Amino acid sequence: MRFAAQRARMVGGQIKARGLTDKRLLAAFHKVERHLFVPEELQQEAYEDRPLPIGLGQTISQPYMVALMTSLLRLQGHERVLEIGTGSGYQTAILAELTLEVFSVERLPELLPAVKRRLDALGYFNVHLSPGNGSLGWPEFAPYDAILIGAAAPEIPAPLLEQLTDTGRMVIPIGSQSAQMLNEVEKRGGAIHRKEIASCVFVPLMGRYGWPLEGA
Ligand code: SAH
Repeated sequence: MRFAAQRARMVGGQIKARGLTDKRLLAAFHKVERHLFVPEELQQEAYEDRPLPIGLGQTISQPYMVALMTSLLRLQGHERVLEIGTGSGYQTAILAELTLEVFSVERLPELLPAVKRRLDALGYFNVHLSPGNGSLGWPEFAPYDAILIGAAAPEIPAPLLEQLTDTGRMVIPIGSQSAQMLNEVEKRGGAIHRKEIASCVFVPLMGRYGWPLEGA
């Protein structure tokens, strides 16, 4: 298998060594071939400890950040998960490994055909993709047990909170357009509990409940 040694080094050195040791989580990162989710000319760099450009000004997140966000959702395998910001589809594939069903919304429709091809080829038939403004969530299939937002928001978009089950969990980078704090959000007994986890840098979540689109 191509890049198997690099992938094992990524899991050991970037994820496990930084304290994420859940066996199912590590198995998912061993299995999903990250190099298939980056442009061909960057495949050699796919297992490095950083985000990479995927075109249209967007990035595939750093492997550790994908692992950290995923771990905060504490998936057991039976959940329905909403992802906002499909991007390359790498985080989507990781979620598909760890749970029952994944719904993923991406603002840039041009990114989705490649994602669909990749996920189909890898046999992830529990993933549903949709173009659109993910700050509005995906009401049709709500509520979700977990919601992962892969782009930076000024605040938690209200529709996403509404689409979370009563015991649901959310991870979301909140802050300015240039730097954010990863927040873990938990709904319990009708109340919202928020915890700041780590500083991070994501591309902005665009549109209503995110950052206004220029000229819109
Ligand atoms: N986890 C992804 C990261 C993608 S980058 C990966 O590892 O590949 C963030 C993505 O969010 C970009 O593709 C961007 O187009 C998308 N995005 C930004 N604003 C959005 C919105 N309002 N709704 C849906 N997707 C959005």
